[in-house]
Amino acid sequence: MWFYIVSNLARIPEMTASPRCSGFEDADRCVQCALCLPHCPTYRLTHDESESPRGRLAMLGAWGRNEIPLDLSTRKALDHCLGCLACEAVCPAEVPYGKLIDRYHEATATPLREPLLWLLVWLTRQHGVAKRLHRLLAGLERMRILALLRQVAPGRLRRAATLLPDPYPMAVAPRGRFTPKGDTGNRTQRVSLLAGCVSSLWMPDAYQAALALLLAWGFTVDLPDHALCCGALARHAGNFRTAQTVRTELGLLPSAQPVLVLDSGCFAETRAACGAEDSDARIVYELTSFLDANWPPSLKPTFERPERVALHIPCTQRSEVRDADAAMRLLGRIGNLTVQPIPAGYGCCGAAGGYLLREPSMSDTLGATLIASLGPEPPDRIVTTNIGCRLRWQSELRRSGHHIPVEHPVETLLRACARS
Ligand code: SF4
Ligand code: SF4
Repeated sequence: MWFYIVSNLARIPEMTASPRCSGFEDADRCVQCALCLPHCPTYRLTHDESESPRGRLAMLGAWGRNEIPLDLSTRKALDHCLGCLACEAVCPAEVPYGKLIDRYHEATATPLREPLLWLLVWLTRQHGVAKRLHRLLAGLERMRILALLRQVAPGRLRRAATLLPDPYPMAVAPRGRFTPKGDTGNRTQRVSLLAGCVSSLWMPDAYQAALALLLAWGFTVDLPDHALCCGALARHAGNFRTAQTVRTELGLLPSAQPVLVLDSGCFAETRAACGAEDSDARIVYELTSFLDANWPPSLKPTFERPERVALHIPCTQRSEVRDADAAMRLLGRIGNLTVQPIPAGYGCCGAAGGYLLREPSMSDTLGATLIASLGPEPPDRIVTTNIGCRLRWQSELRRSGHHIPVEHPVETLLRACARS
């Protein structure tokens, strides 16, 4: 609770002007064609040019040229950017929007301004503290205290409680080396499965499912002894020094074997950390893409009774993994399962890394549009590949009185395999 108070106090003396800053020359590549505007979630919500990619690029370019100060309204419009990169994906001038907004955060972020986010970034590297906190929260869940907080706590405390996994997981992701048993078609390939710092604590069932599937398909799987941070959260917080430092931890992954990433939000940073441009780089795969490409020909999973899931495609699956259809291809192989893609019209769920902490009001407004995207007939489950989106969905479902479980595609697949 205290850091919420500090967080708000830290916003009071918000700077009305900041030092000029270089590194925004690429903003001038924008030809102002407006093609990106309908794809930008904040523009669609506000219909305000300053909340659009074009408007933000104009502001960054002008600030970089010392033509405008970074006043409160400029800063607010730039801070509202989700970093979803929907604009970059459609830009004909190939403006490197992601790099520019990262540069903005790097130039302006401070621990005083974003204390909660910086505290979380610190926690991602404190494995002992994170484990103790996890056990504490699991204990509160067991005593039904978290359930109570989700219902009756005031304001921001309730919001924080509803953004935790519901129910809070008691387990953690598996650790160590696992080898397949029995006849597995003589596959002997080894893979590393990245245990993300947040996702391995908050969706351990997805890691268990991934491990079970990979072993059944004949892979030897290495899971590091403790959770690894890819640096994405640090980058979202504008803490680039930590983002660079934590990336070195990825060197702990065994070399010369593919790295699989279960959480699409960790993909881009992991690929960069593993040296995607180097000739001897480890190859990094997003898990659903990998499973789809390595599907055993004889495997025909099916559900006993018809099931219907709604598939949510996170921004990171679209703009960073760049394989938006991977989960659809994977789930499409399951018999008796109807997969209803959630239309991309909602734009972004509002999780966007640290955004749901940094910009709670805008994040909640975007999140509130999710339920309407489900249509009149609610699905049996919602499926998504990203932990932030999963949390956002859970809190919105709770808020709207729906009781629909949210899971990773590998959990759906494992359930179908177990019943076929
Ligand atoms: S990154 Fe997303 S929110 Fe930000 S300007 Fe681009 S489309 Fe809009
Ligand atoms: S699509 Fe690209 S060039 Fe066109 S307005 Fe958007 S950022 Fe500028």
